[in-house]
This record gives sequence, structure tokens and C-alpha cells, in this order.
Amino acid sequence: MKYDKEFTVALAGNPNVGKSTVFNALTGLKQHTGNWVGKTVGNATGSYIYHNNKYEITDLPGTYSLCAHSAEEVTARDHICFARPDVTVIVCDASCLERNLNLVLQITEITNKAVMCVNMIDEASKKNIAVNIKKLSELLGIPVVATSARNKKGLDKLMAVIESVALSKEKNRDITVIYTNRTEKAISELMPLAVGITDDIRKQRFICLRLLQNDDDIKKSLCSKFAICSQKYEPLLLKAGELISKSEKPFTDEIVSCIFITAEGIAAESVKKSCDRKLSRDRKIDRILTGKLTGIPIMFLMLLGILWITVTGANYPSALLSEFFGNAELLLYNGLSSIGIPEIINSALTQGVFRVLAWVVSVMLPPMAIFFPLFTILEDYGILPRIAFNLDKAFKKAGACGKQALCLCMSLGCNACGITGARIIDSKRERLIAVITASIMPCNGKFPTIISVITMFAIGVPAVAGSGFIAALWLGVVIAAAIAAVMIVSRLLSKTLLKGLPSSFTLELPPYRTPQFGKVLVRAFLDRTLFVLGRAVVVAIPAGLIIWIMANVTIDGASLLCHCTEFLDPLGHIMGLDGAIILAFILGFPANEIVVPIIIMAYSNGSALTEISELSALKELFTANGWTMVTAICMVIFVLFHFPCSTSCITVYKETKSIKWTAVSFLVPTIIGTVLCIAVNGACALLGIGG
Ligand code: GDP
Repeated sequence: MKYDKEFTVALAGNPNVGKSTVFNALTGLKQHTGNWVGKTVGNATGSYIYHNNKYEITDLPGTYSLCAHSAEEVTARDHICFARPDVTVIVCDASCLERNLNLVLQITEITNKAVMCVNMIDEASKKNIAVNIKKLSELLGIPVVATSARNKKGLDKLMAVIESVALSKEKNRDITVIYTNRTEKAISELMPLAVGITDDIRKQRFICLRLLQNDDDIKKSLCSKFAICSQKYEPLLLKAGELISKSEKPFTDEIVSCIFITAEGIAAESVKKSCDRKLSRDRKIDRILTGKLTGIPIMFLMLLGILWITVTGANYPSALLSEFFGNAELLLYNGLSSIGIPEIINSALTQGVFRVLAWVVSVMLPPMAIFFPLFTILEDYGILPRIAFNLDKAFKKAGACGKQALCLCMSLGCNACGITGARIIDSKRERLIAVITASIMPCNGKFPTIISVITMFAIGVPAVAGSGFIAALWLGVVIAAAIAAVMIVSRLLSKTLLKGLPSSFTLELPPYRTPQFGKVLVRAFLDRTLFVLGRAVVVAIPAGLIIWIMANVTIDGASLLCHCTEFLDPLGHIMGLDGAIILAFILGFPANEIVVPIIIMAYSNGSALTEISELSALKELFTANGWTMVTAICMVIFVLFHFPCSTSCITVYKETKSIKWTAVSFLVPTIIGTVLCIAVNGACALLGIGG
């Protein structure tokens, strides 16, 4: 397709102002949105067509300023400053413009092609906040558009304005922030030396300002983006250094406060606030949800509620799916036989590939389809940062960062998400702690294993009334134990491999927002459930085949599976497990979901057991193979503490770019799990507890 013109648009803004929602509404893409600060960590790109012009749009990570304190700020600043987008759209939250205006002012210092998008105008009007868009535009000297991206309002106008700025029909007026006399004088002394760097006067001024703020990152960026040899801008750096050293007090404070005062003035003239009932309601809810005595118990009850709905709600569809797949397996087997497929291939396909696949789908799909939407509702409502707030003190004591709690919440869904989520932590040391400990959290792939072991050995089968609640309670206890374990391991790491003091951070509590339930359901199902399930299915297919081959290829009269389990048996027994379980964990490296089906295959030697999800049959099979209460306990321990799955390992490597830290992430939980299992098994043997 041929477009008349092609433009690049950068989408900047403070965190949690609805940038991703604007991005999705413009591009029709499905970038993750959520009501908490820091979830957009990389640059997402997409495009849209307007009047036969193509707009390539980049969603930058949320930042409060361009004074580069964090990786996100550097990314955003470098993109706006050096990638030279044709238009920069600054998305702002209409309810707290004053704070948002700081970034707007800084961006207008760099570019004369900015558009301000005052988003969440619906929420502001509910809070009795009126924004005078025309006045705002006059004061800032840039076009301003009001939107309610979630309700798709104002986007047409936004696209029209972006176009007129891109086509240079509309330009920004000149710089709005005037600094103190001495700062302005210093800038005018530096400006002639900055001429060689860029021909854009605004950018020259911006670079001079950052240099006066002693911003080391801008020096690095100048070198990497312009490939300017240091000699060329040496005089500029020297002069800036000279001005800073000659000055009695630092320029930074003055520069920051000038921007702040200007923002305050503009907000005062363009925003009218009357009594905000919603804010006081939010504060009241916060007093309970983040209260010293009430916060943690309420969070635990919420977790319990989610788990209870997940466990009980999943039982029936799981049984239905399992029955369906049981019949389908038979049909498939007969069908393949009737068209003359050799028995050995038929058996490999149906009893190997199809059976493991059926287990993964019937056991994983129902709980995920319930858990993810519930979790997404909590996320959209704004609960996640409150959980982080409640756990902040405990994490600080563990030498880690409170934001790690947000990573743990994400890990509950999928460990890889928790590992990527650690990017919200600024300090490298604390980020590494969060990455290494993320896989201790039981993810959705581990839930089915934990639930079935708990149901078989702690609650009893067949199920009686209330067993769903007891299972949820146990699972809640296991998750609480996992959180405690994460804190202990974090503390150990911060005293040994990753020594250092916890950094202070400000965690922003966003307003409570009623989620859009329909959208949440669709998004949670498509983006999370199907994504995680899809990955498990992709792994289950080859795994099913490998296990079948191992169970059916014999050497010296015994199957490969037997040889392997026998080899691993001594280690397994010391750990209170057995060789089949250890093998299942090893073969389950690509995805935790397939651990139980591998154990089943190993015990039934690759055949027999048809009703694999019938827990009473499963318990019989397990006890016949020597399982006791101690095996069940050690199994749950090892599910929590063992090497992260392959996807998590790859994610750790991608995030840390270090084989060393990937190895540490692999070894730390494995060693802890092995030692714990040996200790528990030994203690039980000493005390004569056998089950
Ligand atoms: P980002 O962090 O800036 O990318 O923000 P998101 O796009 O993830 O949005 C943060 C939260 O604000 C989400 O819960 C969105 O559903 C919500 N949101 C986004 N735009 C609007 C809007 O125009 N009105 C309202 N009421 N909520 C919005």
C-alpha cells in the first residue's frame, strides 16, 4: 500500500496516565494496560493510518521527568531528543495536571512539535475537576486535546491535531520556562559551544540545561547518538564544569524549582477543582486496605477468595474436559487404526502426544480461565500497588525493595512476567534479587500440581462438601509460605552475593478505578490464558512424544524410563521423593504443567491409566508407588523450590544479559529445594513420621 506521507509519533507521559490505552486505541494493538505505575517498561511500537498518511507510533515508558534518574527516563529522553519523532504526544492525567505539566514543560524544551493529550477527562469530571483546554493551550503554546481513551472519546480530534503538527500546519510557540538570571546567563555562555552538536536551538538549550544539572547520562548519550568525538564537545563540557564549580550553589535545584513553579502557575490558571468526594472515598478505602492491622489480613482474604473461586470453579469444567478428551483419545485411536496407521505410531500419537496434551489442557485451562480475569480485575481496580505498599516494610527488612511485591503478584500468573516486571525496580542490586527470587512464587503452571497433591493427601478424595475451600486455604498457606521464602532468600542474597542497603522509593497509589469487566474478560482470556496455555501446549507435544519413546524403547528388557528412574532413585529417596518424580521435574524443564503427567506415565510405564484426572485413581496409583504424606510434603516443597522453567531461564538471561546471574537463578532455588527436602525427609524419618 502506498501512503502519501509517513510520520513518526512518540507517546510520552507520566506512568499510569493511560498512555498504553491511547496507544491501543490509536493502533488497534493490545499493549498491556493496568492500573499501576511502572508496567510499561520497554518501547512498544505500532502504526495507524489517517487521511492516507501512515503514523508509526512508539509508546515510551512512563517517566516523571527527563532528568534521567532511571533507565526508563533515559530511554524516553533519548527517543524524544535524538530519534527526532515528527510529533511527540504527551499524555497527561486530567486529575493531576500540575504534576504532569513538569514533563510537558521539559518536552516542549526539546521539541517544537509537541501535542498535549489531556486524558481521563471523564474521571476528572467525576472528581469535579474542570480543565480549561483552550487556556492550557494558550499558556503552553502547544495544541491540547481532551480525551477519554478508555471510552474512545476525543481520539479523532487527537489524530487530526497530530496530523496538523506533523504537516507543520501548526507549530509550538517558543519556550515557556524562564529560569533565574544566573541560570539564563550560564545557558547563554554555553549555547555558542553547543552549536556544533545540533542545529536545533531548543535541543541545544536542553543539552546545556542538563549539563548544568551535571547529568552524566546526557554526556554518554551525546557520544553514542551523535558519534561525536569527545574533542568536538570537550569545550562545552569543560565550560559547563567550570560554571558548575564556580557557582556557589548547584544549578539543579533552581532549574527543577523553576519548572515546578511554572507548572504550578499554569495549572492554577487552567484547572478548577471543587470538593473531590471520590478522593476522600479513596482515602477511606486506603485506610482499611493499607492499614497496619487490616492491610495484610484483607490481602490474604482476597487471595483466599480468588483461590477458592478458582479451585471450586475449575473442578467441574476440568472433569468435563477430561471426560471429553478420554473419549476423544479413544476415537482418535480407533480412527487412526481404521485408516491403517501402524500400531506403534498410533500409540505414540494417542497415548503419548495426545494424552499429555489432554492433561495440560483439561487441568490448566479452567483454573487459568478463572484466575487470570480475577487477577486482572484486581490489577485494574488498583489493588496491586496496595499489596506492594503493605509488604514494603517486610521487603525493606529483607534488604530488598517493596516494588518486588508487584513482581511477585505478576509471578503468580507466570514467573516470566514477574521476571520482566522487575524492570520497575531502579536499583540494579534489588532488581537482581527480584529476578532471582521470582521463580519461587508458584505460577499457574505449578498450581495444578500443588492443588492435586494437596487434595489427594491433605484433604482426601473423593471430594466432600467444603473441600474446595480447604484446598484454597492450603494453597493460600503455600503461597504465603512462598512469599516468606522469597523474603528469606532475598535477605540471604542481600547479605551475601548482592550486598547493599535497600534504596528508598516512592510508590504511587493510583486512584481506584472501576474495571471494564467485559474488556477484562476478553483481555485476560486472550492475552494471558491463551498465551500461557499455548506455550504449555507447544511444550506438551514434543514432551509427550519423548516420554512415550522413553517408556516404550527398551534396553536389556527394561524401558529407558525405568533405567532413568532407577538411576535417579537414590537421590529421590534421600529427598523424600523417588526417581520418577525427579525425572518428571527434569523433563518438565520446558513447562511445569507437564510434571504430573510425566510421573503418571513413569508409574504406569507409558500406558494403562486412562482417567488421568480422576484424583482417587491417581492417589491409588501414587500410593501403590510408595507415596506417603512425607512424599506429598517434599513434593510441594520441590514444586516451590526448583529450577525455573526454560522460559523463565531465557527471560532471566534476556533481562540480566549474564550467564552468571542466570546460573544463580537456576541454582539458588534448586539447592534450597534439595536441602529442604532432605531435611524434611530426614526429620520425618528421625521422628518416625512415615505417613
Ligand atoms: P499507562 O501506564 O500510562 O500506559 O496507563 P494504562 O493505559 O495502562 O492505563 C492505566 C489505567 O487507567 C488502566 O486501568 C486504564 O483502564 C485506565 N484508563 C486509561 N484511560 C482512561 C480514561 O480515559 N478514563 C478512565 N476512567 N480510565 C482510563
